[in-house]
Order: sequence, then structure tokens, then C-alpha cells
Amino acid sequence: MLKKIRVRFAPSPTGPLHIGGLRTALFNYLFAKKNNGDFVLRIEDTDQKRYVTGSEKHIIDSLDWCGLTINEGPTQGGNFGPYRQSERKELYRSQIEKLVSLEKAYYAFDTREELEKVRLESEKDGKVFIYNAHNRHHFKNSLALNKEKTAELLKRGDYTVRFKTPKDKEITCYDVLRGKVVLSSSLMDDKVLYKSDGNPTYHFANVIDDHEMNISHVIRGEEWLPSLALHWLLYDAFDWTKPKFVHLPLILKPTGKGKLSKRDGAKFGFPVYPLKWTSDDLVISGYKESGFMPEATINFLALLGWNPGTEKEVFTLKQLEKEFSLKNLNNSGARFDPEKNIWFNQQHMLKLEGPTLINLLEECLKQNKIDYDFKKLDSIIRLIRPRLDLLTSVLPSSIYFFVSPKNYNAKAINKICDHNSPQTLFGVSTVIENIGVFKSPKIKLDIENYAKGRNLGFGKVLGLIRLAIVGELSGPDLFETIEIVGQTASIKRIKALANFLP
Ligand code: GLU
Repeated sequence: MLKKIRVRFAPSPTGPLHIGGLRTALFNYLFAKKNNGDFVLRIEDTDQKRYVTGSEKHIIDSLDWCGLTINEGPTQGGNFGPYRQSERKELYRSQIEKLVSLEKAYYAFDTREELEKVRLESEKDGKVFIYNAHNRHHFKNSLALNKEKTAELLKRGDYTVRFKTPKDKEITCYDVLRGKVVLSSSLMDDKVLYKSDGNPTYHFANVIDDHEMNISHVIRGEEWLPSLALHWLLYDAFDWTKPKFVHLPLILKPTGKGKLSKRDGAKFGFPVYPLKWTSDDLVISGYKESGFMPEATINFLALLGWNPGTEKEVFTLKQLEKEFSLKNLNNSGARFDPEKNIWFNQQHMLKLEGPTLINLLEECLKQNKIDYDFKKLDSIIRLIRPRLDLLTSVLPSSIYFFVSPKNYNAKAINKICDHNSPQTLFGVSTVIENIGVFKSPKIKLDIENYAKGRNLGFGKVLGLIRLAIVGELSGPDLFETIEIVGQTASIKRIKALANFLP
């Protein structure tokens, strides 16, 4: 029988979840869904010094916002719990004892100061200090000391447990994307697996849990590739079956050079967290607060490092769940393109139903205490829809339907206004005053005739009117806009610009 697909997202709660982590979670989730498997959330909180309050909640809320349903985790529970490493200490203790009894690990009693001294001495000789098979017998550990001394030191309780890394061995590991990865154990130190404070180190807890939780595929960021050899050796030491390893390509900066960092968000002006993060005196808004839809965020992230094998770009989460496969993951870095990010949001917003956008607009109007006529909202949304890119753009893109422009775009004034403009505008205001049936085709016709009669360029006249109505030179169909703004308000705005111009 084929082994059930079980994957895990295993963040350390050392701060808010960022988009790199979210993409790792997404690929794990999609792989699980595609294969009817389980998506597990495991909180790797062994390093209490780096623990940041609120990050577990931020991680869970962010996954929830994106619709990535967790099958097993700290809040859901499950058959392989607990799902926080801080609650699994007993397990690590018994497994480390097992590893020592298998003679694959040993107790070490060297103090920090003693090791520091040796390190400095090696550096003086121009050498890098590595504690491993070449020198471990010179140190204070259970391999070098006799039984009595070891027992005595163990009683004092201040010891670590180190992995007995094999001497000068070629370790051949496999990564699904990269194939064979060969490393030499001579470059590896005897890693501390268990600390003097009774906590496992990241590597040990990570491997124990992946095994105990029956994880079939470890899908994680490329930054963990250098740890693969140690993890591989740990599985061998216990004689456990290994999961498959997939190290995801890096997300690169918008320039394409170097790994995307959290600081790049502020630098290039895009969010790096799915949801707002609040700490002490700092509030950083996330994708949600910046007006991104969760579907669009997910869609964008899915294509950073994965491709469907076709030209298709816009996907719902359900479609991604069907189409995802490990074989279409790329193994080179994926450039983060903030404009493409917005483009995806635009595509998903185009799919929103009219009433959803109307509700959103109404909410914004209410929040900003702006008067409106509900009957007009439908036409407004219909007009501005193609121009919307973010959910937060609904009001700024339609504000002129509700309030007169407060100021005019200076560049536009320079571009299209001259000393005849006030006269033209007063003329147009009279035309508008005399339109009987205030409907866009009639508005268009009368203005067209006015321009023709005066030998004025139609385009230029339209520019002036648009500036008066909208405050700038862009916007949807002008005649429909005028119809919605209304006869009286339009006349007022046109006269206001005429009076404003010198
Ligand atoms: N706790 C690690 C992290 O924060 C997870 C590494 C892994 O997925 O194996 O990235």
C-alpha cells in the first residue's frame, strides 16, 4: 500500500509569518491537497530565547486568511500531537538517550569558555575549529573519559549531547529538485543535538518529529539544504526510513539579485506579511490591509517557483490544488515582481461580483462620512471596475462621483489650459444647462456640436471638462461620468475650473 502523503509546515515562532514562509506553507498545502494527504502545522519553538509572543497567532491567522486549511496542528489537534515542540520534550529526551545507547551520539562536558579558548587558538593558527572525529578524543566527553568520570559529570547535569558524525565519509543525499547532493562529513562538526538546558536543538527535534509524525515529504526553503546531510545521517543513525526532501528555490529581490529580505518591502513599497503585525510601538500593514485579496496573494506566490506547464496564470486556490505538482517546481530562484503582484490582484478583482464591490464602496463611503445615492453605486462600480487594482482603490478611484475635486492636477493644467479655456468652459456649462434629457449620448452629442460650432478640438474640450469633473485627465467614459455626477453638480464643477484658471 502506498504511504499516505503527509506534509508539514514547521515555522519557528520568532516573528510574523512573511511571504517566503507563506509560500512554503502554500506548496506544502497544495501538495497535500493534490494527493489527498494531510497538511500539518508544527510550531518549532525549541529555541525559547528567540520566541516572540504573538507569532504563532500571526502564523495561524495568516494561513486562515489565505484559506490554507490545516488538518492537524496546535489548535486542531490530531493523532500525532502535541504539535508544539515545547510540549514534546519527553519524547526528545527518550530519543536522545536511545541515540546515545546506539553509540551514535555522546555526552559532552566541555564548557563554553573551554571551547572558545580552543577556537581562538585555532584561529591564531589560521585554522577553522571543527569539533569532530579528528579531535573529539581530546575533549571532555563520554568517548574520551572513562566510565566513572563520565558518570560523575553526568550526575552534575551540565552536559550536551553531540552527534557522532562519521569520520571522512561521503554522504550522498537526495533532493527531489536537485537529485543527488554529495557532501563530505569531514566538513561537518559533531553537532549538539541536546542542550544543557534539557532542550533539543532545532536539527534533532525537527528530524524526530518528521519521523514521529509520519511525514512523507519535507518541503522547505532552500536555506535548509546545508542541513540535509546531518538530517540524512540522523535518519541513518536511527535506521529510520527517510521522507523525500524538497528544497524550494529562493525568492529573489525585485532586482533579481540576492534573496528577498523583509527590509525589501519598505524599500520597494510592498507588504511582506500576509496580515498586519503589531509589536510594541510598531505596526506594519500586511497584504490584507494593503488591499490585496487572499486569492490573488496565493495565486501570485504559487507562481514564484512553480509553473503549471502552460501559459495560464490566473488560478483560484481550488484550481491550484488540482494542478500542483512537484515536477513543475523550478530549481532556480524566482524574482519577486511587485507590479505583477498587483496585476494578479487586478485579475482577481475583475472576477468579483458587482454587489461585492458595491458593498465595499458603501462601507468606505460610510467610514469616510461621504454622502451618496445608493441607486448610483451600481453604475459607478460598472464604470470604474476595469481601473481597480487593489481593494483599497475602490474609493480613491471613484471619489469624484461623490465630491468635487479639491484641487486640479498641475501638470494637466499646464498641458491643456490656455487663455481661452475659461471661455470654453463657461460655454460648455451653458450647453450642459440646456440639455433636456440628461443621458450620456445626448450629453456627448451636444458637447460635440458645441466644439464643432466653435471650431474647437473635441479632444481638448473633453480634457478641460474632465479636469473640471475629475480633477485630472484620466478616468472612465466622460459622458457617463457626467450623467452620474448630475447636471447641477457638473455645471458647478465646470464653472469652478473656469473661475480657478487665470
Ligand atoms: N523551523 C524551521 C523554520 O523556521 C523549519 C525548517 C524545516 O521546515 O525543516 O524555517
